[in-house]
Amino acid sequence: VKKKGSRYEKAARPVKQAAVLGAGIMGGGIAYQSASKGTPILMKDIKDDAIELGLKEARKLFAKQVERGKLSTEKMAQRLSNIRPTLSYGDFGHVDLVVEAVVENPKVKEAVLTEVEAEVGEQTILASNTSTISIDRLAANLKRPENFCGMHFFNPVHRMPLVEVIRGEKTSDAAVAATVAYARAMGKTPIVVNDCPGFLVNRVLFPYFGGFSLLMGQGADFARVDKVMEKFGWPMGPAYLLDVVGMDTAVHAGEVMAKGFPERMGSLGGEGQSSAIQLMYENDRLGQKNAKGFYAYE
Ligand code: NAD
Repeated sequence: VKKKGSRYEKAARPVKQAAVLGAGIMGGGIAYQSASKGTPILMKDIKDDAIELGLKEARKLFAKQVERGKLSTEKMAQRLSNIRPTLSYGDFGHVDLVVEAVVENPKVKEAVLTEVEAEVGEQTILASNTSTISIDRLAANLKRPENFCGMHFFNPVHRMPLVEVIRGEKTSDAAVAATVAYARAMGKTPIVVNDCPGFLVNRVLFPYFGGFSLLMGQGADFARVDKVMEKFGWPMGPAYLLDVVGMDTAVHAGEVMAKGFPERMGSLGGEGQSSAIQLMYENDRLGQKNAKGFYAYE
């Protein structure tokens, strides 16, 4: 954990203009957060309707702040204008840092990163918001891997304070410094971690999900487990959290972790394993995204 004023920040090149690729759940959230804290950001997607949705979400979040009296309507308009939606790389020549937040598919990410690297300046930092793909793998095809790192936000971006800054084998100190400083400018708490399956947070979270799954296999009542964890002081229990994360995402991440650490996390999704989470997934109970998970949603 790097405290404020660490060597990372002292060496930081400020991010005056940012960009995000993808205007989905995460990209839209990242654009909102950057704009809200005063760093202008280009928000690029390949679909018009995705951009519309991203902007709509941002408007909604700003409007909530106005409603609560935390922001004037003039300030809201000004902050909203920090987000510049686009379908092209036209203005990417002047961007200091690009966060890549397109779909979690290594081939798509590799193609998008190669594409954007050709459009930006030599000093521009590229940072991927991937949850499960190795940063070194994504760096492999880049011409300037030293300018590349991970910048892993959590959902919902505007509420979750932590950002993992992932240092790949070839990532330079300057790239880490700029990314840490940008995360801080966004009002977040960055931690610098090495590249490994699950980075830091998911390496802690998935054994917890694994333990929960084992309890389910032994006949425990998920709603009771949730209540106990809430009484313990956590904002939500594991069943509800899995509904938020989505069973498909959890199964996929579990598989990545099981492959990365078979001796410790094999039971999270190794072949032939049938966990409660997997059973939910196989029965199309994906969580909030399709309104049925451990709980039912309207
Ligand atoms: P999403 O499906 O909501 O959004 C992805 C967006 O990328 C879509 O709008 C799509 O049109 C766009 N896109 C696809 N190809 C593109 C391209 N070539 N150029 C520009 N845009 C393109 O996905 P999401 O949930 O926002 O996830 C995005 C990334 O963030 C993934 O890598 C995911 O693993 C990671 N992540 C997700 C969460 C989460 O809880 N959803 C949390 C942390 C990290």
